[in-house]
Amino acid sequence: MKDYYGVLGVQRNATESEIKKAYRKLARELHPDVAGAEGEERFKEVAAAYEVLGNADKRAQYDRGVDPRAASGSAGGAQGFGFEDIFETFFGGGAGPFGSAQRGPASRTQRGGDTLVQTEVTLEEAVFGVTREIQVDLADVCGTCHGSCCAPGTSPTTCRQCNGSGSVQRVARSLLGQVMTTAPCPTCGGYGSTIESPCTDCAGQGRTHSRHTVSVDIPAGVETGTRIRMSGVGDAGVAGGQKGDLYIEIRQRAHQAFERRGTTFTARSRCR
Ligand SMILES: [Zn+2]
Ligand SMILES: [Zn+2]
Repeated sequence: MKDYYGVLGVQRNATESEIKKAYRKLARELHPDVAGAEGEERFKEVAAAYEVLGNADKRAQYDRGVDPRAASGSAGGAQGFGFEDIFETFFGGGAGPFGSAQRGPASRTQRGGDTLVQTEVTLEEAVFGVTREIQVDLADVCGTCHGSCCAPGTSPTTCRQCNGSGSVQRVARSLLGQVMTTAPCPTCGGYGSTIESPCTDCAGQGRTHSRHTVSVDIPAGVETGTRIRMSGVGDAGVAGGQKGDLYIEIRQRAHQAFERRGTTFTARSRCR
């Protein structure tokens, strides 16, 4: 049986308020902002101990030598003080551009997307290969702001609300009293900086779109469904991010006189 008194660091004859006080102190120490991920397992133990010792009936049961958490079979405890709720308060998934585990402001930089286009080839082209010019709409780095998203001569300003950290501390009420939780800064959206004067040519996106002509070397031996990957030829990344890839999917046009079965060509029977 788990030593719940030991986990909370209290004597077996500790009063209700001593137990509560010990629990609150440990819960604060084990807050993820202080203890990190390592604190999470410890916190679970501490919360389990408090679930039992913080409830007079369960504590009495435990003192008689029965672990109510093990006995009930419903780990987590349906009654009592709401273990899950408190756990959520401490370790609940953070909303916004970064999870609760990540620290520091989020980066605006993102890799560009991958683009898929289809092109038709004849049987001869599929067999022997061909160079094809393909028209495709792609994102380019904005020529005015060069991807910075800021109007020329300006740069992002450190966010006044979070002072560049990208996150804000909020006081939440729980049975532990007031606890601090971290949330993405609402002013800068978690980036730690704001763009006061966005580039007007790209509406602050850092990218513009235009029609591109791409020369594709289609190798010999392709067939319908073959995809050719052109690395770094897709959309430009956001705020200086890497370019995405361009995929060209082959469709082979039906041939009038021959049909293809793998690498074998058979004369098509003509229906006239
Ligand atoms: Zn721009
Ligand atoms: Zn901010």
